[in-house]
Amino acid sequence: MAYADPVMEREYQREWKKRWRERNREAHRANARAYYAKNQERIGGQRKQVRENNKEREAEWQRRKLYGLLPGEFEEMMQAQRHACAICRVALDSSTKILTPHVDHCHESGVVRGILCGNCNHLLGRAKDRPEVLEAAIAYLVQNAPDDQRSTE
Ligand SMILES: [Zn+2]
Repeated sequence: MAYADPVMEREYQREWKKRWRERNREAHRANARAYYAKNQERIGGQRKQVRENNKEREAEWQRRKLYGLLPGEFEEMMQAQRHACAICRVALDSSTKILTPHVDHCHESGVVRGILCGNCNHLLGRAKDRPEVLEAAIAYLVQNAPDDQRSTE
């Protein structure tokens, strides 16, 4: 013990460990990796639990990191769209996996275009964001639509 005072002793220990880590970076990293490998399951479980307990905060953090949306901007967009997909108008619902809102953005400019359901978000992705592909798909569907006139006779 370098100090009789426990607070001073703790401070001394902390500073000593910090210096040791700085002088022995590789050994410190190896120790940290070994600790993580040994306790991976427990640490992973704790992280998962934290994410589960903070789902909305996690989603907000993701929207900020991935799309640059500030807190409140997503909710404003949802209200402007009346909590419905901007394309198919299905009601969006964060508590269900299938109807969870997806932030749609232009992959070239990064600009957020709107909020979509998963299906419509995938639709745009599969069409590679090309309007001419979607127009061709519409023309194809119209051209090959069953003749409604005949079926109602
Ligand atoms: Zn949709």
